[in-house]
This record gives sequence, structure tokens and C-alpha cells, in this order.
Amino acid sequence: MPGFELFGEEEKKEIADVLDTGVLFRYEFPEQRKGIYKVKELEDKFAAYCGVTHAQAVTSGTAALKVALMALGVGPGDEVITQGFTFVATWEAILDVGAIPVFTEVNETLNMDPADLRKKINDRTKCIIPVHMLGSAAEISEIISIAEEFGIPVLEDTAQAAGGKVNGRSLGSFGRCGTFSFDPVKTMTTGEGGMIITNDEQLWRNMSEYHDHGHDHIPNPGTRGGEGRNFIGFNYRMMELQGAIGIAQLAKLDFMIKQQKQHKAKLQQAALSIPGVTLRKIIDAEGDSATFFAFLLADKEQCQRVNRHLREKGAGAINFSENTWHFYPQWEHLLAGSTLTSSGWPFSTPEGKRRVVYSPELLPKSTAILERTLVFPISVKMDDDRLKNICEALQGAAAV
Ligand SMILES: *Cc1c(COP(=O)(O)O)cnc(C)c1O
Repeated sequence: MPGFELFGEEEKKEIADVLDTGVLFRYEFPEQRKGIYKVKELEDKFAAYCGVTHAQAVTSGTAALKVALMALGVGPGDEVITQGFTFVATWEAILDVGAIPVFTEVNETLNMDPADLRKKINDRTKCIIPVHMLGSAAEISEIISIAEEFGIPVLEDTAQAAGGKVNGRSLGSFGRCGTFSFDPVKTMTTGEGGMIITNDEQLWRNMSEYHDHGHDHIPNPGTRGGEGRNFIGFNYRMMELQGAIGIAQLAKLDFMIKQQKQHKAKLQQAALSIPGVTLRKIIDAEGDSATFFAFLLADKEQCQRVNRHLREKGAGAINFSENTWHFYPQWEHLLAGSTLTSSGWPFSTPEGKRRVVYSPELLPKSTAILERTLVFPISVKMDDDRLKNICEALQGAAAV
């Protein structure tokens, strides 16, 4: 799972470069910074790593989603389709631009069900956000072809799958744009931070200007501040220290994934000894970022029995149907429409009329799948004792 396990001299050296100049801001200070532009360097390296032309760094993965939605022109009156198994950030960003999140089922990829996506598209749908949950790809080709049929842009929430690929192509590069998170538990981390990638130059310009208070990023002969403004913006700028850490972490990303894959393969083999078990559907095992290992039991009852055994052996797994941060029926604030605004926005109109009501029974298929799914986070430095402990617990679960 996390790059924080590998913090070392490489990160320290990159940070020291920034502290030596004293320039923490990604723009300005041309003389003082001695040619050091860490955020720009991270953007260029991340774009090259993903095989795209443009990357825009921002303050978080949530900011990345919001900046991308703004750049795509999504706002009030629009609907954005995403899946009901994701981190809350995905729909927070949709609501924050004033649009309404519409949730699809997940299938045995634990990602967006393309058949359900098709059913949920209507005239108001302005963006589709599949999420590559738990490190593994959504059925991205099917999703893109449905989106193309209706002329709707796809934004891939790749927060949990940096470095993942399908047929050699980076996740996040299939849609109009893709977003990443570098928060403390993501595969590569900058403490807080995010990135958006795209091959669309105009879309990138919109992101770049929006995230920087609307400064037009046209080369300006005067100093910064002399530019014009094409539209209202906001501040989601990444700072140089984060850019520096990101450069060191990106250089380790392939190594992290390689380690995780080896650990995942061992757990997978042990889990297959449990009768009735099936593995999560993986689109491309070669391109899997292997940050998590998920497997499905025959039913909820067996799933609970197996997890009880695993817990007794000190190797309990996560059941995401019970997880309050990642699964639709557990989001009590979404279901209740809780907000700090006095009008009730974004769940209600400025006049106080309810815009949308979410029912906890909306996604029976996702619930049925997640209730019988168990998940282990995979880390880079899983030592042999820990791996052996989990594998033995899994093998022992065959008898329960
Ligand atoms: C972590 C995460 C985000 C948000 O990223 P932050 O950097 O924590 O804001 C968005 N989507 C998904 C699926 C995530 O897991």
C-alpha cells in the first residue's frame, strides 16, 4: 500500500534542494530559486510516467477531482455518475461544484458496473467517474465506449491505483482526464497532494488557471500579477516541498508495485484453499498495482465465518459493506442530506427545496457483493512472518 514505508535519503535530498533556496512557492522568485522548480518537475515526470502530454499538480486528490470537474465545465443542474463503492471524496467533489452524484452498482471487479452505467445516463449526465478502487482497474474500455456513444467525458478517479495499467497503458490516461491522490495512505505520497493528467491541452489550461486564482498562464513579460484573468479561479496550488517528495516517491513507484505483487500472489494462493472462494475480477493481472487483495466467499454467512476465524488468528480482513467511509449505505450524512449551509445546499436549492434524496436500498447488487468480499491491504514491506501468519490463517479458514 503506502509509499510512507519507503521514506529515506532520496526524499530528504529532494527536500534539502528546496530548503537550500528557501523558495516554497511553485511560481515566482526566479533569481532566488536557482532553477529549482520541484512541482513543475514532478508534473513533467508524472506525465511522462503515465504516457500523457500534461499533468497538473494540486493540493489533494479531492482537489484534483474538483479542479477536473470545473475544467470540464460541470456545475449546478448537471449530474455526474460514479459508483457507490468509493471513498467519500468522489461525491464530495461532485456536490462541491453544484452537480448531483448518481451512483451505479459495482460488479465483481468491485468497480463500476458498465451495464448499470448505461441505465443511469440521461440528458443531464455531464461526466462519468469510474473509480479504480483498491488498486485494480475498472472495466475501462467498456465504460469509455458507452460514454463515447453518448458523448460524455470520462474522468478516472485513480486515487487508489497510481502505477496501475491495462494492456500497458496507464490508468488515468484512458478518459478525458484522470485524477490521483498522494495522501498519506496512497501508494506514492507527498503527505497531502494530488495530480490530474490529460492529453487535452485546453482542458489542462483550464485546470492550471483555475487552480491558481484564475491567473492566465500566458507568458507574461512583466512580473507575476500583471496577467489577466479568463475566469474565476481558486487556490489549489501544491507547494515545492510536496513536489520534492513526490519526485523521490515517483522514482520508487514501480518498485513498490513489484513488491506488492509478490506479496499479493502469496495471499491469493492461500485464499484459494478456502472452498467456494472466487477472486475479485482483475482486468489485467500484469498491470495490477496490487495495493489490496480482495476475494469473494460463497455468501455473507461464510464470509463472516471466515473473517471471524481470521480475526482469531490475528489476521482479520476488511469487509467494505461495514466500512463507513467507502460504501454508499453507510454514508449517513449523504442519506440525510446533512450540510452546514442554512439553505440546505447542495442537497437543497437556495430556496430550501430538496434537490435529491438518496435511499439506502439503492444498490442491492453492490451490497450483495461487498457483504461476501474480504480485503487485505498489501504493503511494500510485509515481512515473512506477517505473510506467513495471514497465509496460515487463510488455509485454516478452509475448515470453518
Ligand atoms: C484518497 C481518495 C481520494 C481523495 O484523495 P485525498 O488526497 O485524500 O483528498 C479520492 N478518491 C478516492 C477513491 C480515494 O481513495
